[in-house]
Amino acid sequence: TQKIAKADAEDRCFWSFEYFPPKTEAGVVNLYDRMERMYTLGPEFIDVTWNAGGSSSDVTMQVCTTAQAVYGLETCMHLTCTNMPREKIDIALNDAKAAGIQNILALRGDPPRGEANWTKCETGFSYAADLVKYIREQYGDYFCIGVAGYPEGHTENPDKEQDMKHLKDKCDAGADYIVTQLFYDVDIFLNWHAECRKIGITLPILPGLMPIQNYGGFKRMTSMCSTYVPQHIYDALEPIKEDDKAVKDYGVQLAIDMCNKMKATGINGFHFYTLNLERSTRLILEGLKFIAPIEQVRPLPWNPSLAKNRE
Ligand code: FAD
Repeated sequence: TQKIAKADAEDRCFWSFEYFPPKTEAGVVNLYDRMERMYTLGPEFIDVTWNAGGSSSDVTMQVCTTAQAVYGLETCMHLTCTNMPREKIDIALNDAKAAGIQNILALRGDPPRGEANWTKCETGFSYAADLVKYIREQYGDYFCIGVAGYPEGHTENPDKEQDMKHLKDKCDAGADYIVTQLFYDVDIFLNWHAECRKIGITLPILPGLMPIQNYGGFKRMTSMCSTYVPQHIYDALEPIKEDDKAVKDYGVQLAIDMCNKMKATGINGFHFYTLNLERSTRLILEGLKFIAPIEQVRPLPWNPSLAKNRE
C-alpha cells in the first residue's frame, strides 16, 4: 500500500491523474474511454473526487471500482467527512476495501454549494485529521492515506503557520503523502515545501497542476480557489483568450515550464487535475520527455454523441 512513498523514495519521476465523477451515464462511459487510453501514459495512480456530503458517492465508487478492477489502475478514492454521518463513511471504506481499492485521499470537504459553512453531523468528524486517525484505527495499514496541502494557505485560515501545523497534524495522525491544491506560482510552492520540511513534515508532497484548458474555466477556477496568478500569465493569455486552441497550447507549455522548474529542485512526483480531459496532460508528459510522443489514431466518429465529447 506504500506505492506512492516507494515511488518518491526511488528518486524517479512519476505522475498521477485526477478525475471527477461525471453527471450522466454517457459521461461515465466517455470517462472510461479516456481512462483506458490514459492508462498508456503510465500514471503511478489515478484518483477520483468525492462530492462533499456524498451526493454522487455511488458514481465515485463505481468509477473507482472499474478503474481498479477492470483497468488495473492503482486507484485512490477521495473521501470527505463534511456532512457525512460516520455510518456513511464506514460504508464507503468497506465498499472500497471490498473493491480492492487501497488508497484514500482523506478530506474534510467544502460546504455544499451556496452555503458558507459546513455542518458537523452528530456522528461525523470536524477535520480531515480526525478522518485519517479513524481510518488508521479501523483499518490499520490497509489503506495508503493521502491528505490535502495548501501552498497558499487554506482560504478559511488566515494564519498560515497554524494552517501548516494542522497539515502536520494530518501527517502525525497517519497520512502517507500530501497532494497540493492547484497553484500557478512555482516559487510559492517551493517556499511552502521548504517550510513543510523545516517543521518536520517528511512525507512525499505531490504538487497539484491544473493545465489551463480555456480562459473562462481558468478564471472561474482560480477565483473559486483564490489562487494567486502571476501577472505574466494574465499578460500571455489576454491576447489569445478567445482562441481555445492557443489557450490550451499555452497551458501545456506553462505546465511544462512549471514542472521543469520544480524538477530542477528535486521534486519528482506530479499530480495532474485532468478535468477528465486527455490531450493537455498527454502533451505535458511528452514535453517533459516522461513519455514518448504518441501518434494519435482517432477512431471514426461512428457515434455522433460520443464523438462530440471527444477532444
Ligand atoms: P482540513 O485539513 O480539515 O482543514 C480545513 C481547515 O481547518 C483549514 O483551514 C485548517 O487550517 C483548519 N483546521 C484543521 N485542523 C484544525 C483544528 N484542529 N482546529 C482548528 N482549525 C483546524 N473537496 C471535496 O469536496 N471533494 C474532493 O474530492 C476534494 N478533493 C480535493 C483534493 C485536493 C488535492 C485538495 C487540495 C482539495 C480537495 N477538496 C475536495 C477540497 C477540500 O475539501 C477543501 O479545501 C476543504 O475546505 C478542506 O479540506 P481539508 O481536507 O484540507 O481540511
